[in-house]
Amino acid sequence: MVKVHPALPEIPIQPAAWDWLQRSGVTIRVRDPSSTRGGGFWWPDRKLVDLFTAQEEAAIHELAHAWWHERRLQGTAAAELIVAVVRLSEESDPRYQRAAELARQYVYGIPSQPDPNSPTGWWRGLLVEGNDWEMFAGLASGVMGNLALLPDYVRCFYTGLFDEPAS
Ligand SMILES: [Zn+2]
Repeated sequence: MVKVHPALPEIPIQPAAWDWLQRSGVTIRVRDPSSTRGGGFWWPDRKLVDLFTAQEEAAIHELAHAWWHERRLQGTAAAELIVAVVRLSEESDPRYQRAAELARQYVYGIPSQPDPNSPTGWWRGLLVEGNDWEMFAGLASGVMGNLALLPDYVRCFYTGLFDEPAS
């Protein structure tokens, strides 16, 4: 757990991960510390985690983007994550139910969710776009950085970023 910004609660990232992010130039801005409504951006060119509010979920999400930004370009990492998310979409272990549900949305989309920019008129998910970066950040905030909620074959992508579950 690390206090990464005075306006935020402690985030379940490893101190060494926060050190690495800071050393690589990542900074955090919280636009409205009095709100927790959420939202934010990761600006790669400025290495800025730009949070609209002090919401923990958004902080975990955008920090995950910052962490994955370089790692996704190492070898076949991006494709490996996508393959793991497809496998997660078929996971039946009840411990990983929340993550598996998110994975199914990323893989198959949400036919009931309108998307005027989609050729089908509904949100088709992230797999069709090969969007590993939203898969990575979406799962991170989806489980709020709790690695106990991810099976081994997905958890390994977050090793070094989030605190290891107490065993
Ligand atoms: Zn995102």
